[in-house]
Amino acid sequence: MSDTATVYNFSAGPAMLPQAVMRQAQKEFCNWHDTGLSVLDFSHRGADFTAIAEQAEKDLRDLLAIPEDYSVLFCPGGASLQFSAIAMNFLRGKALYLNSGVWGDKATQEAKNFGDVIAFDLLSKQDGKTAIRSQQDWPDCSDDYDYIHFTPNETIGGVEFADLPKAGQGRWIADMSSCILSQPINVKDYALIYAGAQKNIGPAGLTIVIVRNDWLQREPVAPVPSLLSYAVMAQNQSMYNTPPTYAWYLAGLVFQWIKAEGGVAQMARRAEQRSQALYQFIDNNDFYRNPIAKKNRSRMNIPFILKDESLNSLFLQQAEAAGLRYLKGHRSVGGMRASLYNAMPMQGVEALIDFMSAFAAQNR
Ligand SMILES: *Cc1c(COP(=O)(O)O)cnc(C)c1O
Repeated sequence: MSDTATVYNFSAGPAMLPQAVMRQAQKEFCNWHDTGLSVLDFSHRGADFTAIAEQAEKDLRDLLAIPEDYSVLFCPGGASLQFSAIAMNFLRGKALYLNSGVWGDKATQEAKNFGDVIAFDLLSKQDGKTAIRSQQDWPDCSDDYDYIHFTPNETIGGVEFADLPKAGQGRWIADMSSCILSQPINVKDYALIYAGAQKNIGPAGLTIVIVRNDWLQREPVAPVPSLLSYAVMAQNQSMYNTPPTYAWYLAGLVFQWIKAEGGVAQMARRAEQRSQALYQFIDNNDFYRNPIAKKNRSRMNIPFILKDESLNSLFLQQAEAAGLRYLKGHRSVGGMRASLYNAMPMQGVEALIDFMSAFAAQNR
C-alpha cells in the first residue's frame, strides 16, 4: 500500500490486506473509538477488547454460517502449530492424511511424532499436468480413522480440490489457510477447520480454529500443553493467556469488510473472476505456462512458468519496478506465483496481465 504509486502484493503470505481495512486501522490506531487508547493498549480482559473479540467471532460465524455446536478459537502461532495440536488432541489409533502438496506433507510429518499416520499422495500426472486423483482411487475414507486430514487449497503448488470428499463424514479436518472465506463452505462437513490468518484473514501469528464441540470432550492419549489444547482454549474463550490482540482486532476489521462487500459468496465470485482472467491469459499466451490440470487449478495461488526460464530474474526485476511485488515462485516449484486472495482488487490482476503481456512481446 502506498500513497504515491499503486503497488500490488502478490505474496502467498503475509498477503495484502484490503485498503479500506488498512485505512481504518490507521485512522483509529492511536485513539480507538474516542477511548484515548490504541487497541494495542487494551487489556485483553477489559470491556473494549472483549467487545472487539466478541464482534469478530460473531462476524466470522455469520460469514461462514458456523453452527452453534462449533467453537471458534483465536489461537496463537501459525497454522503449522496446528499440525501438532491436531495430532496431540485427536490422534489415538490412526489418522489418514490425504495430501496434495507441501503443506499436507508437513502436517503429516508433524503428526507422525504423535502416533500412527497413514499418508496418501493424491497427486498424479494427467497429460503432463498435475492433478488430484479421483475419489475412487483414494483409500477407503469410511475406515475407522480418528480423523482425515486434507488441504483444500495447496498454496505452494497452486492445487485446489474441485469438490470435497463425501465419505468419512464428521471426521474431516481441513487446513484452509489459503482458501478460508474465499467461498461458502458447509462447516458441518468438518470436525475441525483451521487457517493461519496471514492469507485471507489478517496479520501473521494468529490462527483461526473452528471445532465441533463434541470433539472437545475427547480425551487425549497424553497430556497436551494448555495452549495447544482445544478444550482449554475453548473453556477460556481463547484467552487462557494473552492472545494476539491486535491481530484479532485486524481480523475483525477484515470480517466486517467482507460483510460490507457482500459476504463470502461475493468473495467467491471475485476469486473466480480474478483467477479466470489470469489463467485465460496464461493459456492463450505460449510465453507462459501453468502446470496444473484445469479442474484442480487454485483460485488463490497461481504458479506460472516462463517458457524461457533464463528470463526469470529479468521478469521479477521489471515486475518489481512496475509495482508488482513478490511474484517469485516458491523455491520448490520455481518460476512465478501470483497469489490472488480476497484483498486483491481486479485492477491488480489487470496490471499483472498488462505487464506479462508487454514482457512477452518484448522478449520473444
Ligand atoms: C501458509 C500455510 C501454512 C503455514 O502457515 P504458518 O502460519 O506459516 O504456519 C499451512 N498450510 C497452508 C495451506 C498454508 O497456506
